[in-house]
Amino acid sequence: MHIPTEQVLVNLALYDGVRDDLQRDQGIWVGADGTIRAVGPVDDVLTEAGDARVVDLHGDHVMPGLTNMHVHLSLGLPGHFGDEVHRSNLAELVLLMADSARRTLHSGVTTARLVGESRYADFALRKGIERGAVDGPRIFTAGHALCCTGGHGWEADALEADGADGFRRLTRQQIRAGADLIKVCISGGIAGEFESIDTPQLLDDELAAVIRVAHDWGRKVTAHAGPAESVRRAVELGLDCVEHGYELTDEVTRLMAERGVWYVPTIVVSRCEQFFRDAGVPGWLMDRALSAGPRHWESLQHAIRNGVPIALGSDMPPHAGYDETTATVRELEFMVDAGMPVADALKSATIRPAQWLGQADTLGSVEVGKHADLLVLRDDPTRSVSALRTLHAVLKGGVSYRDDHGRLRDAR
Ligand SMILES: [Zn+2]
Repeated sequence: MHIPTEQVLVNLALYDGVRDDLQRDQGIWVGADGTIRAVGPVDDVLTEAGDARVVDLHGDHVMPGLTNMHVHLSLGLPGHFGDEVHRSNLAELVLLMADSARRTLHSGVTTARLVGESRYADFALRKGIERGAVDGPRIFTAGHALCCTGGHGWEADALEADGADGFRRLTRQQIRAGADLIKVCISGGIAGEFESIDTPQLLDDELAAVIRVAHDWGRKVTAHAGPAESVRRAVELGLDCVEHGYELTDEVTRLMAERGVWYVPTIVVSRCEQFFRDAGVPGWLMDRALSAGPRHWESLQHAIRNGVPIALGSDMPPHAGYDETTATVRELEFMVDAGMPVADALKSATIRPAQWLGQADTLGSVEVGKHADLLVLRDDPTRSVSALRTLHAVLKGGVSYRDDHGRLRDAR
């Protein structure tokens, strides 16, 4: 169990997730319940906080914890990873996922949206993290992903169905298990041997059944989707969010913006050659991923230009190494390279995901009453998202889970 310590962080510059610019000489009072009790000019906060313990951050930068919206803690890619996941019994699977959850949190991701896990282990893990038995990010999960027979993800434990009845049943089963959202694969992708990225897979009545049931139960639906035509049809049927969108067009991104449909590009997946090599994936998978790269990049640029709401997601494990940083941070850097202003990129990883998840009153920014999910960086994130490469401390709910310089040490 981790119990938050009441403390006042001082001598820091703050990116709060609400305002675009950096606030200097700030203080943050973290209460014993792990929420933010006061934030603002340091003298005001110190006066309010009375005799709470003071922690000097030596002029470093504080920002909200990151949310990664496309995570598989039990990633089952063809290759070493998938072999390990598929060979494992349920107990071993939970331990693999717990290890990935701990690394995810240490990498600065304090909230993860899981979009396809295995054997309902994610629900046990979510409970373990909530109780403080396992170190990990806050979890919002879809349970198993859903697909048609032989559809995208079936080898990675997506559940298969055919026809509207079958999809209604699978959707209700995920909700029964405790799903916060529903993930459905509506077209082919990178990791399926007998499909291509532009194979349409769900029929309209099947997708409509998923969306209808999910919405009736107050759950959003996100779809693994590649081609523009599949995305267009799904948007017309009321889809809430598009994953990957490998082949989006100017036209379909305009439609997404108009209907308020979100986009999680996972741009790293079509350019992470070293990761695929390390994971020992088959040659066809590597070729398909990398050859999707240029068109995927254009999709992201269409979405940025047309004002589609975008949230950060990596698909790769959030903590996985990528160009001397993590997949999560590299994804943010790519989004800026593709034309997204730094201020928008930071929001796509903090306050915007909190909005999509319906958690904007407790997560996603550094404001009074919210959970103290905080990152400490040496450099200024409002100047460059690469400042996240200088991350050295992570708090979740006022508890420090990583503290490279030992300044928060006593808080745990
Ligand atoms: Zn995925």
